[in-house]
Amino acid sequence: MRATLVEVAPRDGFQPIAPFIPTEEKVAFIEAAHAAGLRRIEIGSFVNPKAVPQLRDTAEVLHRTAHLPGLDAQVLVPNARGVALALEAGARHLAYVVSASEAHNRSNVRRDVASSIRDYGEIVASLPAGVKVRLNLATAFDCPFDGRMEEKLVLSRLDALLAQREEVEVGLCDTTGRADPEHVFSLVSACLARFGGRTRWAFHGHDTYGLGLANVAAAWRAGIAVFDAAFGGLGGCPFAPGATGNVATEDVAWMFSRMGVETGVALDALVAVANRAAALPGASPGGRVRAAMTASCTTA
Ligand code: ZN
Repeated sequence: MRATLVEVAPRDGFQPIAPFIPTEEKVAFIEAAHAAGLRRIEIGSFVNPKAVPQLRDTAEVLHRTAHLPGLDAQVLVPNARGVALALEAGARHLAYVVSASEAHNRSNVRRDVASSIRDYGEIVASLPAGVKVRLNLATAFDCPFDGRMEEKLVLSRLDALLAQREEVEVGLCDTTGRADPEHVFSLVSACLARFGGRTRWAFHGHDTYGLGLANVAAAWRAGIAVFDAAFGGLGGCPFAPGATGNVATEDVAWMFSRMGVETGVALDALVAVANRAAALPGASPGGRVRAAMTASCTTA
């Protein structure tokens, strides 16, 4: 049994941190995560630098990490302009984001969902061969403005999106962290039953209410084997008020190792990276395994 972890701290985790993290340091984090065994890393995003100034150096980070063996570097792109910039910078794996919720899509990418879906269709039709796509469905469970998302609505969004291209990895994102394990199990099961085998599924969880890991376990039981996570539990979407960090990569890796599921991650090395990330000025770290593995205690 094997699960794939997608390290998203350099994008989802760094973006809400106000003090600029020097490019050098971002590159060092990615090198350290790679050395700890992580191969899929979301290294940044091609969004408007005025909206997310922290990630304005993504092209350079991409360039300076290109030498890492086996690194599958993914970048987030919110629109056609982001796609053009990403391709120009040499990106080969794009993560496009659409929200299930109308209100969140407007707040996140300033367009209605129908426009985002139309743009997505045009983008995938014009991509050069060999460029991989991760399609992130934000607010797949819950929206900061509209609350719980109806499963019917979410599936209809996926109908429209997967009609454009079936061969894609879809990330079901619990943007607010308000999903619960029953909800995750139910939606993942419905997706796997409804859509064909050419689509791969991933789960992107936030730990806002402490259910991040439980939700990962539920998604795994329902048949998902790709999980987004951020070292140090960094995160918090600037466009999802109140949302805190992603589920911590070291927590997910720990859980899977206890369950006998391989992730390829060296935990000690990853915990060292997570501790460094947690100490970044302006960071609000999360997760439990970091403290547990760093502390030395004697108990009965
Ligand atoms: Zn997120």
